Amino acid sequence: MLRQSWDADVIVVGAGPAGSSAAADLARRGHRVLLLERESFPRDKVCGDVLLPSLQKPLSAIGTSLDILAGDAATIHGCGFTTATNIHATGTFRDRQGNHQPWRILPRVLFDERLARHAERCGADLRVRHSVEEVTWDQQKQVNIVTVRNRSSVNNYHAPLVIAANGAFSRFGQRSGLHQPRNSNRGYSVALRTYVQYPQQERIFEVFADADLKRGCCWLVPGPHGMANVGIGTFDSPNRPTRTNLESIFRKRIGQRVNLDGCAPMAGWLLPGPCLTRRTVTDGLLLVGDAAGFVDPFTGHGIHTAVSSGLLASTASHHALLSGMFLHHQMPLRSYEKAWRKAFGVDFVLGRLFQRLHHDQRLLDKIMLHAAHNHLWADEVMSIIGHALPRSSVMRPSLFSRIIRSQLSNRGADQQRMSGPAA
Ligand SMILES: Cc1cc2nc3c(=O)[nH]c(=O)nc-3n(C[C@H](O)[C@H](O)[C@H](O)COP(=O)(O)OP(=O)(O)OC[C@H]3O[C@@H](n4cnc5c(N)ncnc54)[C@H](O)[C@@H]3O)c2cc1C
Repeated sequence: MLRQSWDADVIVVGAGPAGSSAAADLARRGHRVLLLERESFPRDKVCGDVLLPSLQKPLSAIGTSLDILAGDAATIHGCGFTTATNIHATGTFRDRQGNHQPWRILPRVLFDERLARHAERCGADLRVRHSVEEVTWDQQKQVNIVTVRNRSSVNNYHAPLVIAANGAFSRFGQRSGLHQPRNSNRGYSVALRTYVQYPQQERIFEVFADADLKRGCCWLVPGPHGMANVGIGTFDSPNRPTRTNLESIFRKRIGQRVNLDGCAPMAGWLLPGPCLTRRTVTDGLLLVGDAAGFVDPFTGHGIHTAVSSGLLASTASHHALLSGMFLHHQMPLRSYEKAWRKAFGVDFVLGRLFQRLHHDQRLLDKIMLHAAHNHLWADEVMSIIGHALPRSSVMRPSLFSRIIRSQLSNRGADQQRMSGPAA
């Protein structure tokens, strides 16, 4: 098929953070991009609204920044963690050099539209209320046929490449060769959230564990305009609580902290789990963001990986278009899989490990007890939780020796307490 008869070089399905970033980058590289979005803006997305500082780099690569997109966001500087046994520790997000790495908090209803409009300004053809129903690969002509519903009309568009950025429920992820490995237990995590009035000045992210919530936590994220984003999330587990259980744990834990009277009903969503062996490309198609399962298995954050994977997919698509190689086993699309594994692999593996450790309430109590008595340790722990320090920091011998030293000193203090005051 001749290039002139394509409707676009790349069709991007979904204008969330992953799709808009891919579309912006491809348009900046001079490609014809159709960015199809099922909803119309402004549209909400169930989220904790946390924009991590690590978004700065991929955003600047597509010609924008956190200051431009989220200049009016609230900022929070650290994390307060309360364990199920009510041990409480607070620390500040700092990088290795000791610099503050604050989070920005901006409702997705604002952030997503701003990023999509940026993609439009870069030259992508953004079409809202366009729902992609089907993507079929024509092997002979080496082109995708994309069936799109817009109100009552249905049209077919042709493009050699499709980037599926349509979120956690992506049905294109089920296309042949792209489903999750059969023996994988990397299912979905579940989260519910709502907004409450929060006039307090305290600007930290608060996390609450609970004995009834074996693998998960409740959160409170102070946002702009005197509101806070509050919610509960539970990791993928064989004995997942029901929605009613989750809401009652949420009311018990967060209700102690803020007044929940009159807050809007909780909205729920699924968070896909990443899997390093998962296939994310097939002929003429790449999966990005939640559609590929790129959500941090420990914190549930996925906007930064959505934007970064959008960029990586855009680079691969650019090379595919230059070389005319659109098949999954050819170098350009294969390079995308290599690139995301390199970029996210360590974080995903360690995130999964932290998720398991989080399950161990006694260990959590110990870590938070040390943190409650040692602010350096508290900053280190909260900075790892807050993505300000790389996850690999936990491998540092200095950190291990600090854990052992503080454990020994705690044990000494316990023994002294048990043997009573000196005569
Ligand atoms: C409760 C909760 C809290 C979270 N908190 C955070 C947080 O604080 N920080 C963070 O970094 N991450 C958070 N995440 C994860 C984050 O929301 C996702 O990782 C992120 O939204 C992924 O972006 P995306 O572009 O891949 O998908 P999405 O944001 O889901 O965007 C997909 C887009 O595709 C569109 N679409 C879907 N189907 C079609 C179709 N057929 N045709 C056309 N368009 C379609 C949708 O309308 C949507 O606009 C949270 C998730 C949950 C559930």
